[in-house]
Amino acid sequence: MPLDNKWDVVIVGSGISSLSAALLLGKEAGKKVCILESHSQYGGYLHSFKRFGKRFDTGAHYVGAMGEDGQFRALLKYLDVFDEKIFVKLDDGFDNIKGADFEFVIPTGYKNFENKLIANFPSDKNGIKEFLQIIREVVKVFPSYNFGAKLNFSAFKEATETSLGSVVEKLIKSPNLKIILYSYCALHGVSPHDISIGMHALILDGLIRGAYGFRNGGDKLADNFAQKIRSFGGEVFCNKKVVALNTSDGKVISAELENGQKVHGDIFISGADPHSTYKLFDQSILKAGRKNRIKKLNYTQGVLGIYAKVNKSLGLNTRKNYYCFNSKDPNHLVSPISESTQIKAAFFSPTSRVSDAESTTDAIAIFGQIPEGLFEKWKGDKNYSTDSEYIDTKTQLANKTLKFVDQFFPNFSRSVMKFSTSTPLTNIRYNPSVSGAPYGIYHSMSQTGIRSLSNKTQFENFFLTGQSTLMPGLLGACLSGFHTVDHLLDLEQILIGVKSLWRNTNE
Ligand SMILES: Cc1cc2nc3c(=O)[nH]c(=O)nc-3n(C[C@H](O)[C@H](O)[C@H](O)COP(=O)(O)OP(=O)(O)OC[C@H]3O[C@@H](n4cnc5c(N)ncnc54)[C@H](O)[C@@H]3O)c2cc1C
Repeated sequence: MPLDNKWDVVIVGSGISSLSAALLLGKEAGKKVCILESHSQYGGYLHSFKRFGKRFDTGAHYVGAMGEDGQFRALLKYLDVFDEKIFVKLDDGFDNIKGADFEFVIPTGYKNFENKLIANFPSDKNGIKEFLQIIREVVKVFPSYNFGAKLNFSAFKEATETSLGSVVEKLIKSPNLKIILYSYCALHGVSPHDISIGMHALILDGLIRGAYGFRNGGDKLADNFAQKIRSFGGEVFCNKKVVALNTSDGKVISAELENGQKVHGDIFISGADPHSTYKLFDQSILKAGRKNRIKKLNYTQGVLGIYAKVNKSLGLNTRKNYYCFNSKDPNHLVSPISESTQIKAAFFSPTSRVSDAESTTDAIAIFGQIPEGLFEKWKGDKNYSTDSEYIDTKTQLANKTLKFVDQFFPNFSRSVMKFSTSTPLTNIRYNPSVSGAPYGIYHSMSQTGIRSLSNKTQFENFFLTGQSTLMPGLLGACLSGFHTVDHLLDLEQILIGVKSLWRNTNE
């Protein structure tokens, strides 16, 4: 259908949340959905890019809950976009955690994880058992992770209002063990004392049960979504940046593009970050309460991305991820560093999960910390990327980060043959948002659970979706698409359908 038709649903942005909502609306209700994406490629952080003849992911390094009994697998199957060939099961020891004086490789499966933790930290045996039991129980309170289970409000409230830090500090003594249990804070960007045990458990549970990488980047998954959306009469339009959402009589009536074209629809959804979304409205018609709430939202810290072609002699396993921490203070894993502070944490993963036997090189993406405010002065400068001071600043930080990793892998920086970098400004440019935050809002207890930003808005036909409305990560953002359509379709029935495709081994 051409763009200038009137659509049943118009969606801003094509991240996995928007794609999931669009597909559900097409599949369940025959809605013709038009997705407007500002970038030249759809998929949001699912998309990958090529440099130095290698493919690099932007925000799809690995995902959990993808095993035979995985919830993410069941959701993708329900949407009919799952294809075994897109994914690669990671090594049975999939996450290599290196600290200043220890190394721990996280194995697949709760029993293996528990046994290995106890073997390494025998004096914390009881605490380890209790902690893992809590994780296994707490994930059961989320109906959209247990497909159709009834919501027990008090259990949900407790799971989302108790911090991970308070549970770990009560049960665990060894500082190194605490670092291991806190390591996935790097995946949501929230300090252990601000993240709820519930949200952290969803990430840990998924990874322990089934950690998978993408064989060739996340694009193929985005392609499958787009193909299905089209099969229901929808379309994904790229290079279509929405610059305004026009309203009349309490309803959104059109999405306006940079060239002034107006795209009309009955229902509107935005998968762009909430702050940017609210900027699309005439500010004078927004209700003060919601406007202030949006204004006050905190976002996660920006990260430095280094996309490197490395010599294979480095000897990395392409089916593992690597975490490097040199502080025993868990807040250092995610908190901003000042210019004078040393880097405390880095994460890297090979982007091609199946190593090319013919090639002498591999591609890896490394993510490191950024001193607070370092790139602030270039915000809003359209020519920032060619400013020599900006280029020098990010290159120096990248070299510092590579040297940091040398402390854990001695030949690391010497093995890097070429690299390219990204900063929060890169994210703002390619994935418009206010801060360039990798995981959207700071998913602290004060901004999630019962205090989450509602998908509903003051406009009766306009809804929000995306990682900032629920939880970060591809699974979290996909689920947010399901939650958004709850206001338009019968989500309970949909989740019963997903359950029929899920082999639940958690009962
Ligand atoms: C560096 C990094 C590493 C990550 N690693 C992982 C990982 O390994 N595993 C994992 O599960 N998750 C990971 N994530 C998180 C995950 O990628 C995100 O949680 C998820 O992709 C967010 O999906 P979304 O639908 O909310 O939004 P996004 O993917 O951010 O999509 C939003 C879309 O909206 C578009 N848009 C914005 N404004 C407009 C506008 N005005 N007009 C038109 N279009 C617009 C953007 O261009 C974008 O395509 C990572 C993220 C980052 C940044």
